[in-house]
Amino acid sequence: MKNKPIYFDYAAATPLDEAVNQAMMPYLTDQFYNPSANYAAARQVRADINQARATIARLVGARPAEIIFTSGATEANNLAIAGLRQQFPKAEILVSTQEHDSVRLPAATVGAKFIPSTSAGLVDLAWLAKHLNKNTVLISTILVSNEIGVIQPVREIAALVAAERRRRLAAREKLPIYLHSDAAQAGNYLDLSVARLGVDLMTVNGGKLYGPKQTGFLYYKAGLKLKPQILGGGQEFGLRAGTENVAGIIGLAKAFELAHQRRQAESRRLTELRRRLERAIIEAYPKAHINGARSGRAPHIINVSFSGQDNEALLYKLDEAGIVVATGSACSAGKGELSPALSAMGLARADVTSAIRISLGRGTDEADVERLAKAIKTSLA
Ligand code: PLP
Repeated sequence: MKNKPIYFDYAAATPLDEAVNQAMMPYLTDQFYNPSANYAAARQVRADINQARATIARLVGARPAEIIFTSGATEANNLAIAGLRQQFPKAEILVSTQEHDSVRLPAATVGAKFIPSTSAGLVDLAWLAKHLNKNTVLISTILVSNEIGVIQPVREIAALVAAERRRRLAAREKLPIYLHSDAAQAGNYLDLSVARLGVDLMTVNGGKLYGPKQTGFLYYKAGLKLKPQILGGGQEFGLRAGTENVAGIIGLAKAFELAHQRRQAESRRLTELRRRLERAIIEAYPKAHINGARSGRAPHIINVSFSGQDNEALLYKLDEAGIVVATGSACSAGKGELSPALSAMGLARADVTSAIRISLGRGTDEADVERLAKAIKTSLA
């Protein structure tokens, strides 16, 4: 077997933490009972799910009944957008242009309006302040952009939403207004307290947190009404039917807890490594350009354009050299489409088609960073 590659694609997938694996194992073997069954062994499994829900609720500052387990971020995003649209079919939905397809596509399907990006890849707040109106029911913005790693001004957007909410209250207008944020890229590095962020709905994904894939949750504020998208046995407070992925839920809670504990130290470590890598890349290829705001970034993602080069060709050369990176997000890669997120920032076509995403994680060290910079230099020589 070939040696393992040096991995720079943590924004696409993270390896399972060993402690998470161990926490999950009993539920794949001895504790296999259906949590809806009514005997003591199954009730214990139900209690363990409730415990996992309480852990997650505590870490985001919510109540357990405000956490719905899903099969990942895609499902949570679809539930937020479609679930709210079906409650308010005539109201307006505003969505940022930096969204992952799992928000962008359901939003486009329900006729949402897209909020322009600044050239730094941030939600254009001035545009939003002007276009938010009495018929807006939902604003959705990613928290950490999965392609360029910038942190969106979610708290500033929450302040606009709060002001509009006060206005409607005073005017006795009935339509509610909510803010959703897809935090799938943020859980390892940012405080996801829903009160601090000011969000009413929030998506989190286990597969990016060194937890199991196909796990995640949607936080939704008590009182907010969503139409379920999956009907059946009434699990998850009637909002997401289907026998619970018990091992996945236990693993997700464990992974989220570990991420919370490691957040500050790991953020500092990766920020330092990322800066070092940025400098080394510019040295290796002076025409390289880092995309997105230079400050206010998550520590783990760099998006670089190598003007005049082809990103797919570079990706293959690096792969041959034993280093893996990504072009665009894992999901739009290979579809031959220009990245909507980069295009929305006004990047020239040549900068979009030469862009690669490099993402760092727990296994990344200085030696990896140096090898990547060297390999870029050799590949582009
Ligand atoms: N949202 C963001 C920001 C992502 O980065 C991803 C995955 O790349 C998703 C949603 C989708 O996650 P999943 O495929 O696990 O449902």
